[in-house]
Parts: sequence; C-alpha cells; structure tokens
Amino acid sequence: MEKLRDQLKLVIVGHVDHGKSTLIGRLLFDTDSLPEGKVEEIERICRKLGREMEFAFVMDHLEEEQVQGITIDTAQIFFRTGKRRYVIIDAPGHKEFVKNMLTGASQAEAALLIVDACDGVREQTRRHACLLRMFGLEQVIVVINKMDLVGYSRARFEAVKHEISKLLCPLGITPKHTIPISARSGDNIVWPSDQMPWYKGPTVLDGLDSFIPKEPGLNQALRFPVQDIYQVQGRKILVGRVEAGIMRQGEEVTFLPQEIRAKVRSIEILWKEKTEAGAGECIGITTDEPVYIERGAVACAGGATPRITSLLQTNMIWMSSRPFRPGEQLLLRVATQEVPVDISVEKRMDSSTLEEITEHPGTVLETEIAQVSIRTRQPIVIEDFNQVQELGRFVLVRDLDIVAGGIIADASSAFGKQALAGSLIA
Ligand code: GDP
Repeated sequence: MEKLRDQLKLVIVGHVDHGKSTLIGRLLFDTDSLPEGKVEEIERICRKLGREMEFAFVMDHLEEEQVQGITIDTAQIFFRTGKRRYVIIDAPGHKEFVKNMLTGASQAEAALLIVDACDGVREQTRRHACLLRMFGLEQVIVVINKMDLVGYSRARFEAVKHEISKLLCPLGITPKHTIPISARSGDNIVWPSDQMPWYKGPTVLDGLDSFIPKEPGLNQALRFPVQDIYQVQGRKILVGRVEAGIMRQGEEVTFLPQEIRAKVRSIEILWKEKTEAGAGECIGITTDEPVYIERGAVACAGGATPRITSLLQTNMIWMSSRPFRPGEQLLLRVATQEVPVDISVEKRMDSSTLEEITEHPGTVLETEIAQVSIRTRQPIVIEDFNQVQELGRFVLVRDLDIVAGGIIADASSAFGKQALAGSLIA
C-alpha cells in the first residue's frame, strides 16, 4: 500500500499536433525509460526516412506493439525520476480520457496541458481544459511547446500564457506552473534550457515532482460496495473492493441504502483469512447474521455516512454519436450500483467553445456538457468525488454502451454549486 505513494498517474492532454507524443517520447528518452534497443531502432528508421530524430515515433512504436500484443501493459507508459515513478495514461483523444476517468480504469491524479506556441489555444485545448475541470483535476501544469519555432521568444510565451489564463481562470483551474518548452529539442523538459535564460521556473520534471500523489484513503471511513454475493457451503460471502478505510473483523458495519446492520465475522483475501483489509484490496466477507442485500449495497462504518438519494443534480458529458432524446431511459452506474433513471436536461454547453446551446432543448449531442436532473427509480448511495472517487462518479449506459458520465461534487449541497454548475454553466 505504501508503495502507491511513490507513484503518480499523469495524463497529457492538448490539441492534436501540439506535441503530446513528442513530449512523451522525450520524457521517456531523457529519463532513460525506454526499453533497450528502442532508441537505436527509432534513430535507424528516422535516418532511413532522411529525418532527424522524431520523438513522436516512440509513441507510435509503443502503440504498434500494443496492437500486436507485444507489450504487456496496454495503455500505460512509465518513467522514473529520482523522486518517484510516473504512469502516463495514454489518452489520445477526449473519449479515451473521459472513459478512463469515468470507469476508474486509470484515474489521473495530475495533468499536463500542452499548447503550441505558434498556434495558441485551439478547440481541443478548450475541451480538454473543460474536462480537467469536470473531473476535478487540480494538479495541472501548462506547457507551451515548440518554443524553438518562435525563436524562444519571451513575448510570445507571455502572450500564449495570457491566452491560456483567460481560458483556465473562469474554469477555476490554477496551473501550478506554466513552462516554455521544446519537446523536440528537449528544452526545459528534464534539464533547464540554455535558449531561454529569461525563464527562471522549474523544468517539466521538477514541476511534476512537486505534485502530491493521492493518499490511498486508509484514514477515511469504511466504504465497501458489494460487487457479488456467493453462497458457498451454506455461507453467504460478500465480494467487492474496499474503496475507502479499513474493514475489520468483529466490527459492526451498516449496509446502505437498506440500513441493515451486521458484524463482520470473517475477511478473506485470495482464500486466506485476514483480520483486516484496507482501501484498494479486493476481499470476501461473511457476517455474523445473514444479511438480505443485493449487489450494489455499500457497507459503511465510522465517520459521516454517505448520502442516500433518488435525485442527482449534476453535469454530464455526452459521448455517443447518437444524441440523448427527451424521455429516454438510461441505466445509471455508481460503483457497483445500477439503477434505471429518468433524465431531464436543464442547460447544455458546447465543450469546445464553452458557449451555451439553446436549440433542440432537452436533447444532448456528442461532446456536449449538460446540466441535468437524474431521477433514480430506487435510492442510491453517493458521495462527493473528492471524498470517495468510486462513489462520486457515474456513468450512464444505453444498450450496454457507456454513453455519458460525470462526477458528483459537493454531494451534500442542493445543486453541486461548487462543481461545474457554478463555473461552466452559469
Ligand atoms: P500530438 O498530435 O499532440 O501527439 O503531436 P506530435 O507529438 O505528433 O507532434 C506533432 C508535430 O509537431 C510533429 O511533427 C512533431 O515533430 C512536431 N513537434 C512536436 N514538438 C515540437 C517542438 O518542440 N518543436 C518543433 N519544431 N516541432 C515539434
């Protein structure tokens, strides 16, 4: 568990062609994180093509290996600094990013937002900034790339920095640093640049090392969403993952939303009996008395209880090419809970212009963000995303496809004011 603190999950976002792949290639190259022989191989290919070293090829190469099933790890790339290990979550487009974040497949803790010094803020810069806000990613570094193409000009850097502040400020994002870089030439990535003596701030790597990894949540109150229930030799075993806190043998827990109490008789991890299990561990438990609950119930103990509700007022991003139509019924998933819901759309916004959309009221189109009221057919257990992420994010499912999702921020207030409602859709 302790080891997790030495690792930080990072997502790199920005408009297409602004240099994401090149920056990733450069980070891997300059931190000696590429597999043996890979650099020589790419240099050979570039020589053959009559080009100088193209760092974006590193990514293409890794992706190709993933397609062919050569690399074990699918969409995750690693590099190391003296301080910790970094996992780059590969999110080539907004859909992958959104799905990664909403399903928890790979939850980024920090982000690098890359902007081309010549191009400035573009459509996807705005959309990605909007998503960073939506997912509550507060640890953000802005990198202004391709400084070599603008003669390493301080004036150009300041102008683009100003343009980005105008975008991020209303979204409530305060970048920890804004760094002028050239991913291609390696300026200010791992080593300070000789080309920009006017820049006195940290390099990208130093900036990243100043971020704080998420705590594993052992100090929080217990949250154990039940994933499955098995009957084994007359015993009822409740299986799931501890999402927060510690499950302890002998402790009384309350299953929500039913409010059924029971004492934990035994805890098993991989067929071995344990006396306790902490956040992040997948376990099976039995109780002293049989509990009549279903998949989706959340066992809780200690501290404040989560919120039980049948009404969610929140923001969602729509990800399907088939629009949402008024009256359509979808399934809502929060942790292991799954319930049918009715949705009414209050406001919508174009996630690339950040402007409100008024035509075709009630519908929501792909990539739009909508402020919605979601009525669940049964009560569900939710929590603020910043408290327990697993109970604070939701997806909406249509015909087995994830079509939308979002996070629940400030769950205790009437309208998630401090979430997007206040800042994106005023
Ligand atoms: P992505 O679509 O955001 O992943 O962008 P790429 O990394 O593929 O870069 C797009 C193009 O910009 C490629 O031709 C890169 O060689 C080029 N590029 C990326 N970074 C730099 C840079 O710092 N300087 C210059 N001159 N070109 C760059």
